[in-house]
Amino acid sequence: MENNRIINIITNNNSYSIEIAAQLKYELTRYHYHVSEEYNPSAELNISVGGDGSFLRALRNNDFPSIPIIGVNTGNLGFYPELSPKDIQSFAKDYSLGQYSINKLPLLQCEICSEEVVHTVYALNDIAIKGDQTKTIHLDVFIDYNHLETVSGDGVIVSMPMGSSAYNYSSGGSLVYPSLNTMQLTPIAPLNSNAYRCLSSSIIVPPDLNIIIVPEYKYIEKIVFSLDGEQVNYEKVTHSNFFVSQKTIKIISMGTFNYWKVIKEKFL
Ligand code: NAP
Ligand code: MN
Repeated sequence: MENNRIINIITNNNSYSIEIAAQLKYELTRYHYHVSEEYNPSAELNISVGGDGSFLRALRNNDFPSIPIIGVNTGNLGFYPELSPKDIQSFAKDYSLGQYSINKLPLLQCEICSEEVVHTVYALNDIAIKGDQTKTIHLDVFIDYNHLETVSGDGVIVSMPMGSSAYNYSSGGSLVYPSLNTMQLTPIAPLNSNAYRCLSSSIIVPPDLNIIIVPEYKYIEKIVFSLDGEQVNYEKVTHSNFFVSQKTIKIISMGTFNYWKVIKEKFL
């Protein structure tokens, strides 16, 4: 049987992942898929082999492509990768028979602005703003163009529902069911004293409002951004504007994805 359909396998460098990627290639070749280890933009499917970090990087390094993705978990937690290495054989068969569903996930979009340029960035989990040193940073928060508060502390996280179980959760934020499509703004170690005061809990913002964050350069010169955990430095940021993007990614599911089941399995 002839099959010109291409699948990209994107693996991390750990030896177990490389071994699992080779097994995956063998199984998919049995169903006459052409497996590409170099990223091929004409592929019909991306498979990441690794943990959440590998899954997130597979998307980020390829500009959040419209090609659907599924992950095989060889990593630590594996919140996103639905398959475990033992599922590879049945996955190849079920995939070739079209027995899967595709779910769209919204991305968080942020315009990071300086006086000269605007950088548009995306994230699946979250974007954190922090200082580049250990000093307290001060961030003015505007929601729907209203000044709400000044957060003084280590920084803030803006997360999407699927990212709410990551940095947001470690910082005391709430888990948000993925269909809600909201953003969550969570302070990281906020100061609350007679000198500095802000909301001590996270806030959940609907997708049709934006969150604008203006850094006050009091004692520090620079802030850094963490895009799904990847640190990026921008010079002289005047403000950043967060909103739920029109851009989405597509995740393949071989079973019925149950958020609460995954939360119980991975966290309790
Ligand atoms: P990492 O430092 O390995 O991530 C920390 C942990 O978060 C890992 O166990 C990772 O899973 C897990 N994780 C990632 N996305 C998740 C999600 N949506 N729900 C639940 N757990 C999730 O870095 P990484 O693997 O590149 O992941 C990037 C993410 O790390 C960022 O988006 C940020 O949310 C998170 N992070 C967390 C903290 C913190 O909790 N204090 C600090 C910095 C960054 P794997 O083990 O499968 O990789
Ligand atoms: Mn990781």
